[in-house]
Amino acid sequence: MNRQEQISKLQATKEFDVCIIGAGATGAGVALDATLRGLKVLLIDKSDFAGQTSSKSTKLIHGGVRYLEQAVKKLDWEQYKMVRKSLRERETLLKNAPHLSRPLALITPCFNLFEGIYYTIGMKMYEWISGSQSIAKSEWLSKKETLSLIPELKSKRLSSGVLYYDGQLDDARYCLAIVQSAEASGAVVLNHTQALKFSKNEDNGRLKSLNIKDLITGNEHTVNSKVFVNATGPFADSIRQMASSKLKPRIKVSRGAHVVLPREVMKGDTAILVPKTDDGRVIFMIPWQDQVLVGTTDEADELSENPKLEDYEKTYLLEYVNRYFEKTVTPDQIKSGFAGLRPLLQAQLQSAMNSDTKSLVRDHEVEIDRRTKLVSIMGGKWTTYRLMAKDTLDEIYKEIFKKKIVKCTTENQILHGGENYRFEDWQNLVDKYGISKFTAEHLMKKYGINAMKVMQLTDNQINFKELLAPNHPFIKAEVLYAIQEEMATSVDDVLERRLGLKLRDEVASKAVEPYVEEILLMNKIKY
Ligand SMILES: Cc1cc2nc3c(=O)[nH]c(=O)nc-3n(C[C@H](O)[C@H](O)[C@H](O)COP(=O)(O)OP(=O)(O)OC[C@H]3O[C@@H](n4cnc5c(N)ncnc54)[C@H](O)[C@@H]3O)c2cc1C
Repeated sequence: MNRQEQISKLQATKEFDVCIIGAGATGAGVALDATLRGLKVLLIDKSDFAGQTSSKSTKLIHGGVRYLEQAVKKLDWEQYKMVRKSLRERETLLKNAPHLSRPLALITPCFNLFEGIYYTIGMKMYEWISGSQSIAKSEWLSKKETLSLIPELKSKRLSSGVLYYDGQLDDARYCLAIVQSAEASGAVVLNHTQALKFSKNEDNGRLKSLNIKDLITGNEHTVNSKVFVNATGPFADSIRQMASSKLKPRIKVSRGAHVVLPREVMKGDTAILVPKTDDGRVIFMIPWQDQVLVGTTDEADELSENPKLEDYEKTYLLEYVNRYFEKTVTPDQIKSGFAGLRPLLQAQLQSAMNSDTKSLVRDHEVEIDRRTKLVSIMGGKWTTYRLMAKDTLDEIYKEIFKKKIVKCTTENQILHGGENYRFEDWQNLVDKYGISKFTAEHLMKKYGINAMKVMQLTDNQINFKELLAPNHPFIKAEVLYAIQEEMATSVDDVLERRLGLKLRDEVASKAVEPYVEEILLMNKIKY
């Protein structure tokens, strides 16, 4: 993907069928689905692809065991349906980008017989709902079996553990792969491009065009489109009110924070689910790449861009780590951390006084404003991004194009880098380029079949094979690849989302910023 090419395509297009604002998981999903249905598509984002919530998730592809518990306790059919839908989607997400996702084993540690029985029934139900899409059988494990999988657990009070399965994804790169697939199918995609102002048809008030600003060049463009889709997640109300000041806010944001710990804290491949914190939340401790990811919190917050991880959140999360692990983990062991805002959808008439974000259903809704015809896709979660996109397009055909729905084909669309992917091909990289197994495996998991293309950048420049930062698998070629092939235009685009070093190790990431800045400057002409 090349930014200048995208701008040329934008300028050459008189009218798009669909212009999508917001390139997180939801907007990227809508762009891919619409392009595959044969529509002319523009996708813009004022930050980067997955620049906001979609790179700040817990990285789970899941139905949500807690939502199932709530569905059963409250006999809530809608909640139950959402869990079932998500569990069906779990398999699709795992299949469509095998390089960026994997099944994940999780254990709920139990401290008495009742907990063992309770969670075993719950996890069996979770497995039963996923039906033929179940990843593997859940199991009630003895204390000894539990400790053999997670030896770092405090053993004194532990009585048993319940093992179950979900999925895990590299969220920022998964979103990028959706964008890349949409672009390869014909969509025009532009990061760092902000939606500024709509123009409307005077006679019927319907949206006609959108003024956008390229935040890299400072240039403004006017985009004509038959339909405008608002996929701005937590920011959805700002676009809704940009289209019509009469629309009442619908989004409530819930803040979630994570800390990243070194792998020595938990060396195995099995994650931990803490099913109930003192304040009724769920916390995960998950092996994630070469680190351990611990999160998340869940509390009402104000809308902001790039919320920062706060000290009280570090303390809160470490307190739980230390309740479960034998060896005390101290704040200086925290390698990194991040916070994000969940875009939770409030029912139209739900009281604005309801401040309990934990009780808001993580489902989605497609809203079409009667007068302006702005289409807003709101709520949802990463796991259901594809369904959200499908529902959005189906509604556009029904309510705006007033045409027979063109069939959605994303269920079987393998995403960029995932076609004919074989993880074992890391050996070819080692044989051909003499790199370590550590780096070769990392390249396969980040780039899929394009790992070889990354290595080809080292053909003429041998120093690109060098490690970017000690003790991490990244090589210097990845920086150039991110700029030349993946539309990275800033240090954070490269280190936070394309490579992910910043989310793994903040100190190491800071140290390589000057190098990344230099490569960005040398290649400025290319973006
Ligand atoms: C802490 C946390 C943990 C989570 N964990 C999980 C999980 O494990 N599994 C799961 O399934 N889900 C999880 N979720 C939910 C999931 O991450 C979100 O539902 C999903 O990422 C939302 O994607 P989105 O595209 O709707 O929003 P976003 O990713 O926020 O994308 C919206 C985009 O719109 C852009 N934008 C805003 N205004 C404008 C404008 N004027 N012009 C142009 N662009 C604009 C923004 O820059 C942004 O990139 C989690 C969420 C949080 C916060």
